[in-house]
Amino acid sequence: MTVLRPGVAESDPARDGAGRGVPAPPPPSPHRTTPANGTPHNSSSQQPNAGLVQLHESIAALFASRGQWRQAYHHLRSALDLLSSEQIEPPHVPEQLRNEVDRLRREHAEAREQSLRDSLTASYNRRYLDQRLVDLLTDQERRTTGGLAVALVDLDWFKQVNDTYGHLIGDRVLQRVVELLQDGLPEGAFCARYGGEEFVLVLPDIDAQTAVAVCEAARARAERFSWQQLASGLRVTVSIGLAHEPAPEQAGAPLSVDPQAQLLRADSLLYVAKQSGRNAVAYREGGRVRLAGAAAGRRAVAEPRVVGYY
Ligand code: GH3
Ligand code: MG
Ligand code: MG
Repeated sequence: MTVLRPGVAESDPARDGAGRGVPAPPPPSPHRTTPANGTPHNSSSQQPNAGLVQLHESIAALFASRGQWRQAYHHLRSALDLLSSEQIEPPHVPEQLRNEVDRLRREHAEAREQSLRDSLTASYNRRYLDQRLVDLLTDQERRTTGGLAVALVDLDWFKQVNDTYGHLIGDRVLQRVVELLQDGLPEGAFCARYGGEEFVLVLPDIDAQTAVAVCEAARARAERFSWQQLASGLRVTVSIGLAHEPAPEQAGAPLSVDPQAQLLRADSLLYVAKQSGRNAVAYREGGRVRLAGAAAGRRAVAEPRVVGYY
């Protein structure tokens, strides 16, 4: 929008870092003076309609960011017309225009939130997960925090659930599993759908022992839930592979770690949990792969599938 009126858009404090135009409230009313002819006008006579022009530009930017070019053009045209006209009267910003900016802002925020959510379970989606993992793993804060845990959660024998009870019940199981996974998450942690019947728990700023306890509690919640509420005879469990990345200061590791590598480690551990009888949390401690909670007593703990990731 700076092409229209240099200075207005750049000085807008509400404009975000990515350069997207976020509408700001119009500047305070300029002082009026009364010229010799007695007609009141704006002391900043070069830009008498600054507030109105700015509003039109902001609305145009919002429409353009949504690909609604016709409406964007309409508002840009209005801004141009105002700039080229020689209005003497001080600008009046209609209430309707302000409301439209507010409405567009709200819709913009809602659309952005929806684009980061999975439509079936309302958990975060893969796009959000990928963005957040990169942020977390490269975050300067990690130098002084407890580390980052990434857990891959997979429903056990879920194909059988679909085959026996139908996809509708299967969908409801997925929704309930997400609720159960999210229930006991510590502050700052989140659940994202990785794909199909697989979910990722991301636990920032957490030590390895607490991460195991959080995942084991999530597994137990799924096991103990009264699935009969959904369908008679239904039973659902989950397996979890947990990869913990210690804070770089503790481990002497570089600050920036590849998020995909941590996910792959979690995937390998998930494989161990599956191969060791399912309904278990697998993690690595002291160079050995272990199962958490009650599953720790199982005699056979499978070997990880991808040794290179440890
Ligand atoms: P395992 O314990 O080894 O993970 O066995 P599984 O049966 O869970 O694994 P498999 O990969 O064989 O089957 C996954 C099933 O998840 C198959 C697929 O139809 C189902 N699924 C994936 N996404 C959805 C979904 O959105 N809704 C429903 N109802 N089912 C889904
Ligand atoms: Mg799976
Ligand atoms: Mg599965």
